[in-house]
Amino acid sequence: LYNTVQDLKGNIRVYCRIRPLFDAGEGSAVDFIGDDGSLVVVDPLKPHREARKIFHFNRVFGPIATQEEVFKDTQPLIRSVMDGYNVCIFAYGQTGSGKTHTMCGPSGGTSNDAGINHLALNDLFHISCSRKDLMNYVVEVQMVEVYNEQVRDLLTDDFSAAKLEIRNCTSNGESSIPDAKTYVVNSTVDVLNLMKLGEMNRVACSTAMNNQSSRSHSILTVHVRGKDSTGNTIRSCLHLVDLAGSERVDKSEVTGDRLKEAQYINRSLSCLGDVIAALAQKNSHIPYRNSKLTQILQSSLGGHAKTLMIAHISPEAVSYGETLSTLKFAQRVSTV
Ligand code: ADP
Ligand code: MG
Repeated sequence: LYNTVQDLKGNIRVYCRIRPLFDAGEGSAVDFIGDDGSLVVVDPLKPHREARKIFHFNRVFGPIATQEEVFKDTQPLIRSVMDGYNVCIFAYGQTGSGKTHTMCGPSGGTSNDAGINHLALNDLFHISCSRKDLMNYVVEVQMVEVYNEQVRDLLTDDFSAAKLEIRNCTSNGESSIPDAKTYVVNSTVDVLNLMKLGEMNRVACSTAMNNQSSRSHSILTVHVRGKDSTGNTIRSCLHLVDLAGSERVDKSEVTGDRLKEAQYINRSLSCLGDVIAALAQKNSHIPYRNSKLTQILQSSLGGHAKTLMIAHISPEAVSYGETLSTLKFAQRVSTV
């Protein structure tokens, strides 16, 4: 089983990915990337010795790491979904740090640089096919976003009916959003078409930082059901989450609706951090109920589920403040 290796490593993993510098002439706040998952960043405003800070993660991917390399380290986790495990993968980081690049690929989604969503689904279909004499799998997807603590279906064009309730899952494999439109998919092409529809529906509006900034969390959920010839069944799900930008409010120079958005985002990200940190510390109380995001993902956070957080950072010296806050967030939820 694909799990054997993973079980030895624990159920919560944290990776860090650093995107390339946009402008080669600009200073970088990233000082050193170790093969062992260590990362050193340097404060551009401080004298050299006090300026260096070291962090440790399960893996660090530098600016030249390819989509394939990132996927390779994620693949065993995704494969364990086909063995009945629930899995949750998050992309965390400030706007512009590369979250969508990792999950969906470059804007426009050219297929030779496909992201985790695409590669993961490809793999699931591949496994389903290779096991077809042993297991009959059905794969279904849903796609929702959480915007200002409201859950919206991204796969429907009927927006009047699009606000969704979350159900407390009682049995494994049940959807936490039963009324979200669910599509049976048979190929990666099916999924890509749905993702395109979802992306078009996603709330995206301009902020002072990036006029394509996504201010919602988007969640692609893959439900897998398998049945073998003796009638044994497995049910599991994979959540692929592109989180809203983690940047602090004041930096975006926002007011009014944009300020409200930013406050909802900050609150839900800190709830997510609390849940994963509580799981990492094996606390008896896990505060799932504090945000819509953690309620939706509950069945794939904790228990036997496997969680991967990919923290994204922008290397530019001007982003040092946000980078530090991303790294601290990631360090807090890590068990390294
Ligand atoms: P986010 O979703 O975190 O706001 P994006 O994924 O949109 O960030 O990335 C911002 C820009 O940087 C995009 O133009 C994207 O194509 C580019 N980019 C991000 N990560 C990489 C990478 N690893 N290699 C090359 N380009 C990248
Ligand atoms: Mg994005």
